[in-house]
Amino acid sequence: MEFIDLKAQYQGIQKEILTSIEEVLDSAQFIMGEKVKELEDALSKYTGAKHCIGVADGTKALLIALMAINIKPGDEVIVPSLTFIATASMVVLLGGVPVFVDIDKSTYNIDVNKIENAITDKTKAIIAVGLFGQCADMDAINTIAHKRNIVVIEDAAQSFGAEYKSRKSCNLSTIACTSFFPSKPLGCYGDGGACFTNDDNLAKTMREIRIHGQDIRYHHSTLGVNGRLDTIQAAILLVKMQIFPQEVAKRMQIGQRYTDLLQNTNCITPHLSNNSNIHVYAQYSLLVDNRDNFINILQDNGIPTAIHYPIPLHMQPILKKYYHGTDLSTSKDVAKKVVSIPMHPYLDENTQNHIVNIIKKAL
Ligand SMILES: *Cc1c(COP(=O)(O)O)cnc(C)c1O
Repeated sequence: MEFIDLKAQYQGIQKEILTSIEEVLDSAQFIMGEKVKELEDALSKYTGAKHCIGVADGTKALLIALMAINIKPGDEVIVPSLTFIATASMVVLLGGVPVFVDIDKSTYNIDVNKIENAITDKTKAIIAVGLFGQCADMDAINTIAHKRNIVVIEDAAQSFGAEYKSRKSCNLSTIACTSFFPSKPLGCYGDGGACFTNDDNLAKTMREIRIHGQDIRYHHSTLGVNGRLDTIQAAILLVKMQIFPQEVAKRMQIGQRYTDLLQNTNCITPHLSNNSNIHVYAQYSLLVDNRDNFINILQDNGIPTAIHYPIPLHMQPILKKYYHGTDLSTSKDVAKKVVSIPMHPYLDENTQNHIVNIIKKAL
């Protein structure tokens, strides 16, 4: 059994993928070119964000976004204390200071009630992660930020395709960043990512930073990086976008089915922040006591699991010096108990029933 079954997905789109890759090979346009533009237009249309800038990966998307808002040494950026390392490490790379805020135990996302206490006159941005595929409470976060001229960046690496109050993830704040790492909700066959914004100036700046800060060929007005999205990956994503809306519907259905089947058991299942929101279940993550034993029993029955994430950011060796003792007990507790089970749009009911039966035995 696969944790995320990328082979099942490929079987259904193999012909179209190969044709699309071949078009790139035939054109010999390997850097940028038509496919990247076409994908950016498609993603912009899908999310509703005016601008989409295809970039090399999700980490670069965050770096480019932070560079575009001019994060400088000493600037503080608020991040949730339980997320993938890149959410905070790109802040550090620019000399910025990550300020950790605890997560909400029912949604796993940043606890909006704790953000205000973390704001100082050095706060430049808040990075709100849609952890496991559900958007954070973006309206509340935007309200807090706008009063003080703080930029909100959505880290939508796991929430691409999700909806918050009928608006799509990646169109919920000043800038959004996503990843097309193969196992993300929209994945390519290597590394890829994108930045989104409705702001024309920020879009122009991010496009320039993506190509060495170049505004006119070989003229560099801003500091930039090599952060382009690979053209072959864009060609793959164009095909995958055609089936993506159906996949999102399947994800929602399969995720909710897990939640229904695991009702009244001894584990905590993911909580939908609002019934009309769409959760894409990038991970279906449970909270269990005695996690090691749970994982062993699943493994003995051929069911793969993963832990997202075993160490909260404030306890990571490279980040702990930025931690000054605020209460991050929910992150710590979740990191001890969280476990992700197989989740992808091609998980059939029989397999899911089998997984649930073993989980019930393991609890
Ligand atoms: C995967 C991920 C990233 C980084 O994306 P890459 O494409 O792997 O660089 C950033 N933030 C979060 C929350 C992620 O899950």
